Amino acid sequence: MKSYSIGIDIGGTKITAGIVNTSGDIIDKQSISTHAEKDPQIVIDSIGEIFNTLLDNSKKSIDAFEGVGVGFPGNTDGRAGVVLTSSNLPNWDHFPLRDTLNDLFGLPVTLDNDTNLCTLGEYVYGAGRGTQNMCYLTLSTGTGLGIIVRGKLLTGNNGTAGELGHVVIDIDGPRCTCGKRGCIMAYASGVGISRMVYEAIEAKEETELQNNLPSNGQRVKAEIVVEASERGDAVATRILETAGLYSGIALSIIIQVLNPEMVVIGGGLTKAGPILLEAAVKSMKKHTQPEIIDSAQVELSHLGDDAGILGAAAQVFTSG
Ligand SMILES: [Zn+2]
Repeated sequence: MKSYSIGIDIGGTKITAGIVNTSGDIIDKQSISTHAEKDPQIVIDSIGEIFNTLLDNSKKSIDAFEGVGVGFPGNTDGRAGVVLTSSNLPNWDHFPLRDTLNDLFGLPVTLDNDTNLCTLGEYVYGAGRGTQNMCYLTLSTGTGLGIIVRGKLLTGNNGTAGELGHVVIDIDGPRCTCGKRGCIMAYASGVGISRMVYEAIEAKEETELQNNLPSNGQRVKAEIVVEASERGDAVATRILETAGLYSGIALSIIIQVLNPEMVVIGGGLTKAGPILLEAAVKSMKKHTQPEIIDSAQVELSHLGDDAGILGAAAQVFTSG
């Protein structure tokens, strides 16, 4: 095996890429902002740019690299190398991303969804090291789940295993970004938190959040809600507790269905302070059968924002 691979994490607003060695050290890391929602070609151009910057900085020949791993924020079919769908990025349906990048780089490319790669990153280099059966729950703009069974990522029939965020738990619940009602993601995510803020304001509840809304009905960032809660805003606190309650239900479903050794929690909402996480743990305990509640260890991510590129690099090393 060659000594290095490149991990690329495509997000909605930025792309991060890094050169990683086989021990999981990030040798160099670069980010570039992009508008992934507009057109795949814009993203391909940005990826080409960041790849060339990494390669130039490294002073290494292309022969030093095992390959390039790519994480995409949506459903992907890794075996076919195509993007299936992304509720955030509608222009990407059935885009042959792996082969396009393979032609661009002249190196083997692997493709998977971003949550699966964060899972693999935590499994190989992070909190899940040494386990055999683990899960990674991401609480971010959306809600995602990655599953490792006996040391391998569970991909399912065509790569969409782990779509816990769009499991319906409230049939008359609020509309989700996927079009259904009452998905877990409609509560346990940044999108869900923003929806609850707008609903509270619509219902004329007394909250300082009405003074801090972004223009044009855009998503209210979780940080705004956390800051309001810290200043004693009861509505903001209730919204964070509700997001935590449903995050805990997500954890209980994972433990009930999959019986993992460990569940790692990652994503931006884990930085939203103790209210959401404490509510999540309380809810997980309440909604899981008492005799199995201690079967899984629950840990916060060890790799943080680097989980995606480390997992993408790990996929290259482990698939070679
Ligand atoms: Zn949904």
